[in-house]
Amino acid sequence: MKTRRSFIQQVSLTAASLPVLNILNAACMNTANNDKQILRVAIMGLGGYGTRVAEAMNDCKRAKLVGVISGTPSKIAGWQKKYSIPEKNCYNYENFDAIKHNPDIDAVYVITPNALHHDAVIRVAKAGKHVICEKPMAVNAKEAREMVDACKAGNVKLLVGYRMHFEPHTLEIIRMRNEGEFGKVLFFQGLSGFIIGDPTQWRLNKALAGGGAMMDIGIYSVNGSRYMTGEDPIWVTAQETKNNPQKFKEGVDETIQFQLGFPGGAVASCLSTYSMNNLDRFFLNGDKGFAELQPATGYGPIKGRTNKGEIDAPVVTHQTVQMDAMAGIILNNEKPVVPVDGEEAVKDLKIVDAIYEACKTGNKIELKL
Ligand code: NAD
Repeated sequence: MKTRRSFIQQVSLTAASLPVLNILNAACMNTANNDKQILRVAIMGLGGYGTRVAEAMNDCKRAKLVGVISGTPSKIAGWQKKYSIPEKNCYNYENFDAIKHNPDIDAVYVITPNALHHDAVIRVAKAGKHVICEKPMAVNAKEAREMVDACKAGNVKLLVGYRMHFEPHTLEIIRMRNEGEFGKVLFFQGLSGFIIGDPTQWRLNKALAGGGAMMDIGIYSVNGSRYMTGEDPIWVTAQETKNNPQKFKEGVDETIQFQLGFPGGAVASCLSTYSMNNLDRFFLNGDKGFAELQPATGYGPIKGRTNKGEIDAPVVTHQTVQMDAMAGIILNNEKPVVPVDGEEAVKDLKIVDAIYEACKTGNKIELKL
């Protein structure tokens, strides 16, 4: 079993350990050659998660919060004071297209309810600013594709807030898998769920959430199945259970179990739910070993172990390392160990679309990612 010190020494010494070494620097494969450059970010949507990102950005070395977009003037005033944001970098949902003419903002981080991401990202792309968009990037693959296309047309980058792609325990398991330490990957299990409260919140409103638990929390198992196995699935089956139709209305999924098949022969079995707590666990099994993350996707500390023992990787604030790494990707074209661009979200949303179709039809759906 490794101590933290030997772990860091080891990752510093072997080229094969670059992923974890780089998470300590910037979570990217190419180290920065232009460290003076800072990604200047405006946050759109000053709610719960926007606030968490803003606080985490206080510790960023390569990214800085410089602007806000919000429909609530009182929130803007509070944020201006707290983060020294000048008036000229404050926008609302009506006037934010004018960000185009603001040379002091490089990127907009969209952190609004899911169904609003599509139009917001397209408007930001048209304004010529890079975009970081929260998960789920869109509410279906068609909208996700339109967002990717709009960013291409606007010649801006589109990244998704997949913070686990920069998390050290996760990256260590990916490194071990890539080096064959678990042998041939045979099985992944993803458990993602919590008991959701207030029935009037936007997360339980199909028009704003795009669905239910699958869009909000199940997407972690969808995305995780891909970065943990290192493959894209080729088929999906899924079954839905609804015990509380008053709370979980038409189009708002409460509990879905889904299974995925991968080209190398591995299978995945996953659970997405808004009706059970203590579900945040990934398990990967190969013919030579296993890896477990529990918690796997919460804010941390993430805990991991393998057949070789506990993973002793650094505990980080996810959003801080994410934003520093994203600054490197946007400003210096650095390549993350696990891709985090809009195409990744298109793949995940194709899987989500297929999961919903499988629930409805009972069919096994072939996937072409
Ligand atoms: P929230 O309800 O706390 O905040 C949403 C914000 O959007 C609020 O400030 C609200 O005023 C604003 N908003 C703008 N238009 C709105 C409208 N029409 N209806 C409702 N609110 C509107 O939600 P949140 O938890 O911050 O989630 C925002 C996004 O961030 C979601 O896409 C969610 O999936 C994502 N998220 C990601 C993580 C993560 O770990 N990556 C964690 C939490 C949330």
